[in-house]
Amino acid sequence: MTLTAGVIAVQGDVSEHADAIRRAGEAHGEDVTVHEIRKSGIVPDCDLLLLPGGESTTISRLLHDEGIDEEILAHVEADKPLLATCAGLIVSSTDAKDDRVRTLDLVDVTVDRNAFGRQKDSFEAPLDVAGLDEPFPAVFIRAPLIDEVGDDVEVLAEWDGKPVAVRDGPVIGTSFHPELTPDVRLHRLAFFAAEAEQLAR
Ligand code: GLN
Repeated sequence: MTLTAGVIAVQGDVSEHADAIRRAGEAHGEDVTVHEIRKSGIVPDCDLLLLPGGESTTISRLLHDEGIDEEILAHVEADKPLLATCAGLIVSSTDAKDDRVRTLDLVDVTVDRNAFGRQKDSFEAPLDVAGLDEPFPAVFIRAPLIDEVGDDVEVLAEWDGKPVAVRDGPVIGTSFHPELTPDVRLHRLAFFAAEAEQLAR
């Protein structure tokens, strides 16, 4: 059976995520067709969904203008997996502490939009992630800081004592960009792995 994945592409280049999803699928014997989504009407056909990084103010406005926001909510409501990275996590949060971001309230966290960015624009760090057997090479680019986490949110990884990867039901959110390294274990964890499985590289 072929699975259908959607990468929200209202802003920026998303080809790295599309590749990562296909490769992650292969690792689990799944054939995946990936759609780049710029209009409403496609998300309802998707089994897996990815909300990438970019600029959260712009992404949230475009999602709303196109009516894609409601479709993402229905996707998660139906318990289908969503991976939200960097600005995608900001948009998925319950509070981005910025009125220009219309949050989707899918991940019960409060985020500080450019917290890491103010210290350092971009850096890479090896991260211990729950469910992965070896550290994940995490690339942070003007990354948000998760500063409050709801009771039902599982923290999957921390950097410098702060959560940087979380799971809330079918949604995994990361402060970093898992698509910018050849390692597809985060995409595997979000979309293809059983909860108890430890993913080897
Ligand atoms: N800090 C950016 C924002 O607020 C996100 C940066 C990113 O996605 N790399 O949207």
